[in-house]
Amino acid sequence: MTALVTITGITLSLAGLWTILPDLWFHRLRRQVLWHGPRDVNRVALTFDDGPHPVDTPRTLEVLARHNIQATFFLVGKHADRYPNLVQEIATGGHDIGNHTYNHRHQWSLGPVKTVQEIRQGKEALEQIIGKPIEYFRPPWGIFNLRTFSAGRTNRGEVVLWSCNAQDYKLIDPAAIAHHVAMNSSAGSIILLHDANSVFGTSAPMLTALPLIITNLKQRGLNPVPLRQLKRSKVK
Ligand SMILES: [Zn+2]
Repeated sequence: MTALVTITGITLSLAGLWTILPDLWFHRLRRQVLWHGPRDVNRVALTFDDGPHPVDTPRTLEVLARHNIQATFFLVGKHADRYPNLVQEIATGGHDIGNHTYNHRHQWSLGPVKTVQEIRQGKEALEQIIGKPIEYFRPPWGIFNLRTFSAGRTNRGEVVLWSCNAQDYKLIDPAAIAHHVAMNSSAGSIILLHDANSVFGTSAPMLTALPLIITNLKQRGLNPVPLRQLKRSKVK
């Protein structure tokens, strides 16, 4: 009985060490990750997760182009392999591209080998298509296990979370999404949006909200830029 209690205790501790502690450190406390840009420049970053999506990614690109805005797309490797022309289109549009793993698996469900494999495979799929190194990584749902951060940072890459979650995966009313972003963003914000929505099966609410979001940001003097420009300090 004592042995069983001990084994259970050790197992739970190891499980906590693999899941809860790293998630607390990187995700909840936002240590060592890029989750906000400089607050002294009037820039924000729009980031779109989970694409490319055959319908909603081109629509997202259209809205951005119409407003002359560049953003950052965190792409899922298996979708990128399926729609490589969309990955090219994103890159050609001057947007930044980040790795969002190959299969979008929950990091707590993966062991160390699989964690590295998922991240590496996602990065390689994107690099193969655009022929350039991928610098940014964002884990699915922003969740970490003990290996996620180090695997995501290979070649001095940056692990990126967000400071403003648009909630576009659960708010169906575009006005509510736009209002939520307006109330929760400021200079330096990294805004999380989705150009592929697995909950609704469409990003239509986000797509209607996007022009409202952009207009509101611009009215407040905040310019949406891709991540590579968000980090630059004040323009002289
Ligand atoms: Zn995701």
